[in-house]
Amino acid sequence: MTTTPATPAYDPDNIFAKILREEIPSFRVYEDDETLCFMDIMPRADGHCLVIPKTPCRNVLDATPEQLAAVMRTVQKVSRAAMVAFGAGGVSLQQFNEAVGGQEVFHLHVHVLPRHAGTPMRAPGKMGDMDAIKGHAEQLRAALETL
Ligand code: 5GP
Repeated sequence: MTTTPATPAYDPDNIFAKILREEIPSFRVYEDDETLCFMDIMPRADGHCLVIPKTPCRNVLDATPEQLAAVMRTVQKVSRAAMVAFGAGGVSLQQFNEAVGGQEVFHLHVHVLPRHAGTPMRAPGKMGDMDAIKGHAEQLRAALETL
């Protein structure tokens, strides 16, 4: 039997919902009918971006299988682009659920972090350089066009 654990209600005023509605700016990398990818403003690695569904859900706990599938399709696409764009040796994916699980923004998202051998991830919570982030978004967009 499948059980659905109770999660708090979705808050339509969360930061990522505002980014989706373009009420606050973001560096967009990719979008399709179901998902959006944009840059994280506190990047833990160069090229750190986030993939979200365009429809509301807090996280994996209340997402539909269709939302999860759409997000992961885009995660794979962007991860492959990140390998090319940054000459990465690998990609780390992070995904957190509810505050106790490490989640800070309550709209489902997957972190895509391009990785290089010997380069540790930076500490969380430090604002990145906006010009650098803009440049990384452009590199990702260019790589996506080649795939
Ligand atoms: P999590 O909820 O998985 O812990 O992380 C939320 C992520 O959102 C963090 O990596 C943080 O840097 C990022 N973030 C928080 N506020 C904003 C924002 O206003 N714009 C963007 N692009 N990213 C944000």
